[in-house]
Amino acid sequence: MPTNTPAPVTFLGLGNMGQALASAALTAGHPTTVWNRTPARTGPLATRGATPAATVADAVAASELVIACLLTNDTVTEALTPVAESGGLTGKTLVNLTNGTPNQAREIASWAKDHGAAYVDGGIIAVPEMIGGPAAYVYYSGDEEAFTAHRPTLARFGDTRFVGTDPGFAALYDVALLTGMYGLFSGATQALALIRSAGLPTAPFAEELNQWLAAMAPSTAHWGKALDTDSHLTDVSNLNVNQAALPNLLTTHLDQGLPVDLITGLQPLLDRAVAEGHGHDGLSRLAEVLSR
Ligand code: NDP
Repeated sequence: MPTNTPAPVTFLGLGNMGQALASAALTAGHPTTVWNRTPARTGPLATRGATPAATVADAVAASELVIACLLTNDTVTEALTPVAESGGLTGKTLVNLTNGTPNQAREIASWAKDHGAAYVDGGIIAVPEMIGGPAAYVYYSGDEEAFTAHRPTLARFGDTRFVGTDPGFAALYDVALLTGMYGLFSGATQALALIRSAGLPTAPFAEELNQWLAAMAPSTAHWGKALDTDSHLTDVSNLNVNQAALPNLLTTHLDQGLPVDLITGLQPLLDRAVAEGHGHDGLSRLAEVLSR
């Protein structure tokens, strides 16, 4: 088959994300087979030309490339086990875009290999409406040959970033980005609760919070270089200053009668870094201390 002919592809899982992935493949002209536990969800894609499969086995048989996007990794192996045990995965490439942990990815890679399939794990860095657009990308790791062979299809979803042959690395990068996001959400949740607990309107404050977070976020881009070169000194906002200020945050929330579980983790880390003599370093030092 010429490389510019869209290759057949099967999708297992048509939740919000699976629908978006399959839709992008259909738009690009790939012969697309879809399976979902609740069959009614295949309807809109079938209307656009996708082939609904009645069983996972039929879906897997239809394409060399099988893309799974279910709720959890347990549900992926649960859905595929009967097919795998009857030899249906042999010669297939399983690309698993389900959110999970690095060790889960490594276990599924080993399981897939035992059943004759190449395995590529993926971490989607996009929400469904971004799929196929310029800002979407997906981390991939695992079988590099299989990834390269199917890259033209995978590129329909967004930029393809292969991060290593260790199948766990895509999940590692994915979880690292999500960690940053949830940290931001934790802080924003606590900040809004503080304003609300004082009986103040939150909408105007939320606008200001958004602007403040956007102004602060770029500083984290410099932390990586500081960590890689082990040079953390700063003239701007060093650990001594932050250590002095942070108790005011905790005290204010406690005085307001709020739980502080979402924001307590930084104080002991700051105390430890300052006690080790890093008080004149910037906040990048905290990641170095934490990673030891
Ligand atoms: P949805 O809840 O919309 O869909 C879940 C899918 O999993 C459905 O197809 C559902 O089938 C299926 N499923 C659940 N349990 C089982 C089971 N036991 N056996 C077979 N199928 C099952 O989730 P999303 O589509 O949004 O997310 C899918 C994956 O993509 C998740 O791992 C998520 O973390 C990841 N992701 C999602 C993003 C998002 O913004 N939505 C962003 C990045 C990653 P049924 O229709 O029958 O219930």
